[in-house]
Amino acid sequence: MDRAPLPDRRSFLAFLVAAGILSPAVLAGEDPLPAGAAWQDEGRRPGSPTVWTAAPRPWSEAPLGPAPGPVLAATWNWGPTVCEIGARVLAGGGDLLDALEQGINAVELDPAVSTVGLGGLPDEDGRVTLDAMIMRGSDLATGAVAALEDVPLAVSVARRVMERTRHVLLVGQGARTFALRCGFHPRELLTDAGRARWLAWRSSLSPRDNWVAPGEDHDTVGAVGLDGKGEAACAVSTSGLAFKIHGRVGDSPIVGAGGYADAAAGAAAATGVGEEAIRLAACHAVVEGMRAGLDPTEAVRRVLLRHRRVRPSFPGQLAIVAVRADGRVGASALRPRFVVGIHRSGRTGLYEVPPLS
Ligand code: ASP
Repeated sequence: MDRAPLPDRRSFLAFLVAAGILSPAVLAGEDPLPAGAAWQDEGRRPGSPTVWTAAPRPWSEAPLGPAPGPVLAATWNWGPTVCEIGARVLAGGGDLLDALEQGINAVELDPAVSTVGLGGLPDEDGRVTLDAMIMRGSDLATGAVAALEDVPLAVSVARRVMERTRHVLLVGQGARTFALRCGFHPRELLTDAGRARWLAWRSSLSPRDNWVAPGEDHDTVGAVGLDGKGEAACAVSTSGLAFKIHGRVGDSPIVGAGGYADAAAGAAAATGVGEEAIRLAACHAVVEGMRAGLDPTEAVRRVLLRHRRVRPSFPGQLAIVAVRADGRVGASALRPRFVVGIHRSGRTGLYEVPPLS
């Protein structure tokens, strides 16, 4: 398929300024985006630049075997878009973190995606709060933010935490203040569609409700990748479970739970009910399985089987995508309908992952 040329870096920044995402100061001075930042808007679902509309192909057709060169994989229907942007960033000389970050930025800015960034569903108080992390496998450099408000590019703020501080995780008001100091411009993340769904949810509550029912809407963007030159990384961004208690933090910014990367072993990223991934330190367990030589799908399956043994009545989803240091890709899920985008050998596709059997 022919692709429109990517806008240059300055056009991308101008777009973000016009959209109210970055302060106009970035055009004149300090630039909070990495070199090679790119924005794709080639038209996917109407009203969405990132959601892939093609039906997923069966898992049996997924290109999972080792291959030379970059390998990228990302969760859900926007996974192929993340992979395509990432592949082009790599081809243009960006590094693996640039690739994952910029792929995820596109999803964070897509108001049609109700589980990530702008347009994410709010917490029970009507506030959109974001969790994100990014991790480089060669030196375990990591940055993360939790309960970040008003700044859609949560994974970019996480990267600033990694690169510009001595810390790993900033939360809440501190994360927001840090983001603004880095040049990110505050904007309302709650869209009309999000507000309408929140109001409908509130009107369904009864005074006797408690907070134990599994939350709806869990579709974090999680990406893993290899650059083909020895680096492995992961990046994750989410608005978390819809209508969560204000202050709830999921797995996505927790190193080892929502994501993990070690260049000697591989990388993993999780989606689903984050509390389950936290209990299992799920992504760390998957990476350690791959380090021990397991195929990535088998490494994920073993973690999910352990979950099923220990928590057999859990009704929700937990799904993980992983790439091993040799380029082999894998995934598994507790429940049906998990799809992943995979890019390797210059091609990108969307594949449906069978549930755990
Ligand atoms: N794992 C995320 C969380 O629990 C939800 C998701 O996958 O969207 O916050």
